[in-house]
Amino acid sequence: MNIILLGPPGAGKGTQAQILVDERAMMQLSTGDMLREARSSGTEMGKIVADVMDRGNLVTDEIVIGLIREKLEAGGAAGGFIFDGFPRTLAQADALGALLAEMGMKLDAVIELQVDDEVLVGRIVGRAKEAAAAGQPVRADDNEESLKVRLMAYYKQTSPLIGYYHAKGNLQSVDGLGEIAEVSSAIKGALG
Ligand code: AMP
Repeated sequence: MNIILLGPPGAGKGTQAQILVDERAMMQLSTGDMLREARSSGTEMGKIVADVMDRGNLVTDEIVIGLIREKLEAGGAAGGFIFDGFPRTLAQADALGALLAEMGMKLDAVIELQVDDEVLVGRIVGRAKEAAAAGQPVRADDNEESLKVRLMAYYKQTSPLIGYYHAKGNLQSVDGLGEIAEVSSAIKGALG
C-alpha cells in the first residue's frame, strides 16, 4: 500500500508515519528529513536549500522530485511507501503519479490530517521547547516567523492538493486534533 500523509506543518504527519512504519513495515519517505540530512552532511544541494528552508519557503520541485525518484528506485519497502511532506505542489503531485506509474506502482490513499492553525502553532512551539530542554538541536524553521511563512506556503501551494486528490477519488480526511493513538486508529480505519 502506498499512501500520502497530507497536512500543514505540525499536523502530526511525521508522528503518524512512524507508527505506520512500526506496525505495517512501510517505508517513510520524508522530503523534509532528506533535505535536513543533505544539509547536515554538507552536500552542494544541502547548501543551496538551507536558506530557503530556514525562512520556511518551499525548495524547488526539481530538487524534491529528484530525491523521491532516487528513493523509489532504491525500493525495499515491503509494506509500501508513506509519502510524508511530499507532494507539496501540484507539479510534485503530477510527478509522483508519473513516477509511480513508470515503476508499476499506484497510490492507494491520501490521508489528510485536519488540524486548526492555533493548535499547529502550539505544537510547533512546544516541539522547539522540548528539543531545547532535552539538549537536542532545535529546527531552524521552528520559530514564529518561519512558521507564518510555512503556513502560508501550505495554504497557497499545498492545500490545492486536497481538491486534486478528492477529484482523483483518493482523499480520506481524518481529524488530526485528538491524542496520537486516536488519530492513529482513525487512520487505520481510513486505510481499511
Ligand atoms: P518538513 O520537515 O516536511 O516540515 O519540511 C521542512 C522544510 O523542507 C519545508 O519547510 C521546505 O522548506 C522543505 N521541504 C520539505 N518537503 C518539501 C517539498 N515536498 N517541496 C518543497 N520543499 C519541501
